Amino acid sequence: MDRTIALGAIFIECNHFGGIAADMATFERNDLCRGKEVLQLSTGTVGGMLQALDGKARIAPTLIASACPSGPLTNECYRALKDELLIRLKAQLPVDGVLMPLHGAAAVEGEGDLEGDLLAAVRELVGEGVPIVATLDLHAHVTQQMIQNADALLAWETYPHRDSFSTGQRGAWALLDILDGRLVPSMVMAKVPMLVSGVFGQTEGDGPFADVMRAAKLLESRPEVYSTSAFLVHPYLDLPDMGGGTLVIANNHYPLAEQLATALALMYWSRRFDLEPEVYEPADAIRRGLEIEGGPVLLVETSDCCGGGAAGDAVAALKALIDADVSLPALIPVVDPQAAETCRGAGCGQQVTLSIGHGVDPQWGTPVVLTGTVRRLGDGKFRYEGGIWEGRLGDMGPSAVLEVGSLSILITTHGTYEWADEQFQTMGLNALDAKFVVAKNPMNYRMSYADISKGAFILKTSGPTPPTLRGVQLRNLKRPFYPADEDIPGLVPTILRHNG
Ligand SMILES: [Zn+2]
Repeated sequence: MDRTIALGAIFIECNHFGGIAADMATFERNDLCRGKEVLQLSTGTVGGMLQALDGKARIAPTLIASACPSGPLTNECYRALKDELLIRLKAQLPVDGVLMPLHGAAAVEGEGDLEGDLLAAVRELVGEGVPIVATLDLHAHVTQQMIQNADALLAWETYPHRDSFSTGQRGAWALLDILDGRLVPSMVMAKVPMLVSGVFGQTEGDGPFADVMRAAKLLESRPEVYSTSAFLVHPYLDLPDMGGGTLVIANNHYPLAEQLATALALMYWSRRFDLEPEVYEPADAIRRGLEIEGGPVLLVETSDCCGGGAAGDAVAALKALIDADVSLPALIPVVDPQAAETCRGAGCGQQVTLSIGHGVDPQWGTPVVLTGTVRRLGDGKFRYEGGIWEGRLGDMGPSAVLEVGSLSILITTHGTYEWADEQFQTMGLNALDAKFVVAKNPMNYRMSYADISKGAFILKTSGPTPPTLRGVQLRNLKRPFYPADEDIPGLVPTILRHNG
């Protein structure tokens, strides 16, 4: 073990349309591992990296900061995390390689491309001769700065994201292959200007993106192709050159990498119409849901997705359930720190009258005033049973279940990433008992409720993570792009290459 590999990252997905900025408290509440603490991580991307490097390299751990998606990082927060990571890295130089488990769609207030900036800073510190390998979410917004400053980028292959561990392993193996001379990466990204939500982005079974992913992965069986990555892109950043596509790493063969990446990007472009979902007004979805026998029927309020950076405080679905006078059980999650505090102050079994919703990111709607009974109180801590943060603690903060007629409203202090239904379960709520369940994500609900759901409707509501980008005003992304432009005659994918 005569080689040393540095390990560190800032991992978060950011939203430019809404949500609240991420500060140090955001990371402290989620995951902030420093120095040797990093070596204790056994799950997720870092767990996979450590497992793959076990016995093969000495690890120089720096900093792993990861958090639930949010608005951009404050400048102060980014500076603090970046400085700490670089100071810890500098103290352990020289190293033979650097591994960075990144997301790829993080942003800093007033600036774009956190990962590009961070990779450039690490490159400057370690020099040109030290390989840097980073892993990314398939929702990454891949930029020239990222491609230029990393030797290899490898993305998750699954959505819902089940493969962070194996992607960590793949990233570590790629770095070892570079160090051992087995891989001379020729890395090319081909991008097409497409902004689509995650609703049809699944990688399993049938679907437009599943087809693209399968085609990309099939190419890995070719001896000259080391790795392929397909990117949906996180569509809620307003940055220049946004888009999805594919990244190909060929073994010392740039023309082939470019040719394959281009063909795959055009295949992705050709499926753009299939990636746009049908959406329903909440009242219409409820009416249709009531016609379905049994439950749960999912009301997918994906425009308020904490996993996409929204605040989780919208009450459009809740209001529609009240307006429709639904008398069957329904579960509705709402982030509202003040309402959670009021419930806690009143105590279990007490009746309260509350204003709920749109208190954290008020631009998307108005609160609803309700009278109900506090049925349960809790500290909001739960453990993820899969996904990116498998085994790690989630923290909703002080939380309450408020019963209003047949409705059970899960009121939490903080927004949390929805993997399955851990949040409901922790607070004693069971989807099986409900006619309607409000799910605030575009994708994971398919997996969480696959065996029990009787139907699902994507709601047309306002929020920073809408199901379609049709009609969304962007400042920094220049047209033409889909879906603002349905067709772009003569479209040629934008090519990003390591080494220009
Ligand atoms: Zn993702």
